[in-house]
Amino acid sequence: MDLPSAHPCYGCAACCRYVAVEIDAPTVPRDYDQIHWYLTHRDVSVYIDWEGDWYVEFTTRCEHLTEAAACGIYRERPELCSDFSAETCEKTTGEPAHRVLLTSPAQFLEWFQVKRPRSFERYMNFRRALLEKRGQESKGRSRSPRGGHSGAGVRGRAGVQSSTSI
Ligand code: SF4
Ligand code: SF4
Repeated sequence: MDLPSAHPCYGCAACCRYVAVEIDAPTVPRDYDQIHWYLTHRDVSVYIDWEGDWYVEFTTRCEHLTEAAACGIYRERPELCSDFSAETCEKTTGEPAHRVLLTSPAQFLEWFQVKRPRSFERYMNFRRALLEKRGQESKGRSRSPRGGHSGAGVRGRAGVQSSTSI
């Protein structure tokens, strides 16, 4: 459905170009490491809103957004889309959704060190222990006669949660 040019959403569709999912606020080093991990991905950011809630945001265009920046399934669009109000959105109010916006690991670490120095120190200790463990595993593998397919290094995401909290 094409929108009339007087409509506040005409030519915008900013809210059809990302997905934001609330996540648990980090409290322990492993949580902060997960934030770090999100930010190692292209087009992924993490933000804290004005209520202090944490979100991971993926910049990704909805498949139903037309070239004219309109919704291609307007009548059938999800409820979340129709609930989103042009009266209160970022574009209309001019107020960003985020109080803190984190877009890269380096920026995250900088923010973390300044804003949460004690948690940052605990996180850096966690990182140091992790790297040391990897170093020892790597040495162990290089001494192994089989050259090291020991099972270490298996990656998984089973512990990752991506929704609801607080
Ligand atoms: S609701 Fe706001 S962000 Fe979404 S299309 Fe309309 S004006 Fe743009
Ligand atoms: S379904 Fe329509 S309103 Fe919802 S995000 Fe996609 S294009 Fe936008």
